[in-house]
Amino acid sequence: SLVAELRHAVEVGDLVLHYQPKTRLDDGRVEAVEALVRWNHPTHGLLYPARFLPLAEQTDLIFGLTTWVLERALDDLRRLPPEIHVAVNISARSLSSADFAEKVLAELEHMGVPAQRLTLEVTETALLTDPPRAAAILEALDLCGVQVSIDDFGCGQTSLGYLSSLPVHELKIDRSFIYDMLDNPAHAAIVRSIVDLGHNLSLRVVGEGVETSPVLDALRRVGCDEAQGFLLARPMPVD
Ligand code: C2E
Ligand code: MG
Ligand code: MG
Repeated sequence: SLVAELRHAVEVGDLVLHYQPKTRLDDGRVEAVEALVRWNHPTHGLLYPARFLPLAEQTDLIFGLTTWVLERALDDLRRLPPEIHVAVNISARSLSSADFAEKVLAELEHMGVPAQRLTLEVTETALLTDPPRAAAILEALDLCGVQVSIDDFGCGQTSLGYLSSLPVHELKIDRSFIYDMLDNPAHAAIVRSIVDLGHNLSLRVVGEGVETSPVLDALRRVGCDEAQGFLLARPMPVD
């Protein structure tokens, strides 16, 4: 019954996007926000992606959901200052669908949003479903100016060789290394190493899941470029 309800929700747009800022660590400016989908369920209230994304991924509903998210995020972007970029999370299924790049580019054109204002966040796992196809999709999007960010970086199974062959612009350090980096020397070392790796490859590095000021200070000290987390801002409606 949840699948039937979700299908209805995607069709009539009973979904909501909340936006979480990515804050620059040198001057505190926000240049990008990440779109995070929620389902406004008639009886259960606001549901988080963990409750319904797996269902969407197991069915074809993920395609309609991704289209809805992309359209809404680009529409909302037109109401935000021109220097703000938006990041949209992309599922594994989308990255293995042949016409995905064309669909994204058509949507950008339809909405009149420059491709440079869109970043796609993909996980390492999503890149591995069909690596040649994922690479072709990301290359086609990169040629037009869309940026690519590797989400939850450090806990997937992608080889560094494969990653370095892709047009990637940003690494987001997985929350699991960030939250205890002050108590766990191994995690602190991993965070430092990812920042160095990113910078040596000319990539922007973002720390996610920052909940305390000491962790934020530690990220600043290791030279991380941007941070995201409840300390800085929770995901919030566009208004
Ligand atoms: P993600 O892309 O890694 O997003 C970060 C998640 O961490 C979000 O959870 C966010 O609310 C949460 N978060 C942010 N700051 C903090 C913090 O300081 N502490 C803690 N504990 N959590 C924090 P959310 O919104 O529940 O999303 C979960 C995942 O669902 C996302 O992880 C993303 O993989 C996926 N997702 C969300 N929206 C979409 C979407 O539109 N399409 C697709 N395909 N996936 C989505
Ligand atoms: Mg993300
Ligand atoms: Mg993440």
